[in-house]
Amino acid sequence: MKEAMFYEKLDDRRVRCRLCAHNCLIGNRERGLCAVRENRDGTLYSLVYGKVISSQIDPIEKKPLYHFLPGSSSFSIATVGCNFRCTHCQNYQISQYPKEGSFSIPGSDMTPDDVVNAAAKSGCESISYTYTEPTIFFEFAYDCAKLARERGLRNVFVSNGYTSEEAVRSIAPYLDANNIDLKGSDAFYKEVCGARLGPVKNTIKRMKELGVWVEVTTLIIPDLNDSDKDLSEIAEFIRSVDPSIPWHISRFFPTYLLTDKPPTPVETLHRAYDIGRGKGLKHIYTGNVPDREKQDTHCPSCGSLVIRRHGFQMVENTIRNGSCTHCRSPVAGVWTV
Ligand code: SF4
Repeated sequence: MKEAMFYEKLDDRRVRCRLCAHNCLIGNRERGLCAVRENRDGTLYSLVYGKVISSQIDPIEKKPLYHFLPGSSSFSIATVGCNFRCTHCQNYQISQYPKEGSFSIPGSDMTPDDVVNAAAKSGCESISYTYTEPTIFFEFAYDCAKLARERGLRNVFVSNGYTSEEAVRSIAPYLDANNIDLKGSDAFYKEVCGARLGPVKNTIKRMKELGVWVEVTTLIIPDLNDSDKDLSEIAEFIRSVDPSIPWHISRFFPTYLLTDKPPTPVETLHRAYDIGRGKGLKHIYTGNVPDREKQDTHCPSCGSLVIRRHGFQMVENTIRNGSCTHCRSPVAGVWTV
């Protein structure tokens, strides 16, 4: 347990949490919406600090990040909890645990030093804060990230983007890459996630402005966010920030509370791909589907194949000094350690 960052003390021992866009007003002995921040006599605590529920070594491509140190491994950690309640969450056993479980906080005790040592020892080039929402274990991620940076490791957030401006500005100097979900319209966020779209867009813009490498993921769900209008609006927004931002469009499979929708037809992913191309996005990738040619990277200038992938494995990378070896044009991304 650690005193939280980003909160205000109010009267009657109440507090206002400013870590994410929910801005929860939390009474004494109560928790915020994420159920992992608790007010004890007017002091807000993070209950998940150092309580690691999952740690493993993943290919960076699994985040997914396709333009960030391709072929490298990332030491990936999570605690329980989330500030969203998505009905289709793939990690609901850990993300929703404090809301649906016994209110207890399970996890193995690890210090930031333990995490950074484990990452370095396993030959990883980065630490990813992932599986659940890193914002809700911000204090722990922040301490790990600072230490990791001192020891020459990079830091990656895989997040829903619902982070407050203050928190984004605090972590950005230590963050190298961020894959952010852009899930759909404001109505989708309200109905499916219990959140709003606006703060997510702001985080995508801010992370870019602050120099963090950003890629965007959209899980496409039949009937919920698969209309031409929904997909066009997402693609237009990405282009307005930077057309070089890679857009990962993933196939949905029924899970958790969302079992009355079928898996996304592959043709829908291809339609989204064409919409993104039509809007001017330079790098679009399909996910959760065996679609080999739509998972490779091509030079946006001459069209040459520059990175070939097989699943989450990088098979070949011909980018040199950040440029295409055929036409010498730059390819956006972070390519070397
Ligand atoms: S981090 Fe948790 S407690 Fe804080 S505002 Fe978000 S949901 Fe509420």
